[in-house]
Amino acid sequence: MNFADSDVIAAILTRAGYAVCEGAEEADFVLINTCAIRDNAEQRVRHRVRELRALQNRRHQLRVGVLGCMAERLQSRLMAEEDNVSFVCGPDAYRKLPELMRGVRTNGDGSLAAVELSETETYADIEPVRISGNGISAYISIMRGCQNYCAYCVVPYTRGRERSRDPETIVHEARTLFEQGYREVTLLGQNVNSYSWGVQDNSCGFPELMERVASIDPALRVRFATSHPKDLSDRLLEVMAAHPNICRCIHLPVQSGSNRMLKLMNRKYTVEWYLDRVDAIRRYLPDCSITTDVIAGFSTETEEDHQATLDLFRRVRYDYAYMFMYSLREGTYAWKHLADDIPEEVKKRRLNEIIALQGEIALENNQLEVGREYEVLVEGESHRSKQQLFGRNSQNKVLVFDRGDAELGSYRRVKVNACTQATLLGELVQ
Ligand code: SAH
Ligand code: SF4
Repeated sequence: MNFADSDVIAAILTRAGYAVCEGAEEADFVLINTCAIRDNAEQRVRHRVRELRALQNRRHQLRVGVLGCMAERLQSRLMAEEDNVSFVCGPDAYRKLPELMRGVRTNGDGSLAAVELSETETYADIEPVRISGNGISAYISIMRGCQNYCAYCVVPYTRGRERSRDPETIVHEARTLFEQGYREVTLLGQNVNSYSWGVQDNSCGFPELMERVASIDPALRVRFATSHPKDLSDRLLEVMAAHPNICRCIHLPVQSGSNRMLKLMNRKYTVEWYLDRVDAIRRYLPDCSITTDVIAGFSTETEEDHQATLDLFRRVRYDYAYMFMYSLREGTYAWKHLADDIPEEVKKRRLNEIIALQGEIALENNQLEVGREYEVLVEGESHRSKQQLFGRNSQNKVLVFDRGDAELGSYRRVKVNACTQATLLGELVQ
């Protein structure tokens, strides 16, 4: 989400005459795009802001701006608490950035905040400037905001109401990327299954949008994130099955394996519903990988609830999971009504148990891949050796292989010879 937002910000500032430079040492402005989802994300931002102070002492013209969800959440409080921050700008106010930056220059150190949320802003007319990409794979924001109000989550407060972007602009952006040589797009939203544009005959839901983007070219891979389990429809799975270039990987955040916890979290589905969706995925797309998010130690979570999460992990056998300790966020339903009553060390122990189990499952899943062949989109040099390249298969698994004659951005067949928990090691099939 934030990479996509940074590219929109870069586009707005490029239009206003600014240019991206190599590093903070050369910059007149350092803009930090932030996440507010957990406290440790915010602590990292504060640390970075404080580090910049030394540089500001040497280069007095350098100004620091904090953008995104943490700016939205804390507003001018952030400038009071971190006095080297000159301005803050929330996720729906990026068009105001040039004005803010001019203001900072002309008013000396006049502190400024642009944090209004919008019910309509989607930045649909802005063609993102890809500042952090590899020229092969890009993110496309298809909607903004969220109004699911999961009890623990700050997103509805920092990113505002859900709104979808005009499909014409999405298809145009994807086609332009393909023409520029990109071979993979990931359509992004907090709950892509509730994407919706237009009315009745002209309406376009997420399956229709996927159909349109996947039809641009069979050589363009299409991914998406995130799917809320309550809205994952058979229609979407049918569309995926009909388009081999829609990648066989579904991120389906479960959060907990206990119905009592799911109710308290306001997730609006049960474990039974979730498992039915997993069965549907396996029916329509037998080779599809499934990944998830989970939270350990939410309010009142018992050992029994925790065991239910471990049981669910054993049943689904995820290929990958993002695993978090519950972090109480100011302003959420849980902050107002539910005690953060699981001691830190219990949260940590439960998280570690989930991590250990998931590690075993991921390794066992990968061992089953040994001997198989996959079409891989070659994305870059391996971190370990320049002689090796890496890419991903449709299931989003990383494969590392000897470079041979493979070129970045091409599709190559790779045979898996060995694996670790996180990576498949293979060789090019000529
Ligand atoms: N919209 C997506 C998730 C966005 S946030 C969805 O609903 O699936 C990414 C993940 O962060 C969530 O899935 C959740 O697992 C985690 N998360 C959100 N709020 C959290 C909190 N307060 N503490 C710990 N983890 C949290
Ligand atoms: Fe947060 Fe729930 Fe919305 Fe995801 S669906 S962003 S977890 S409120």
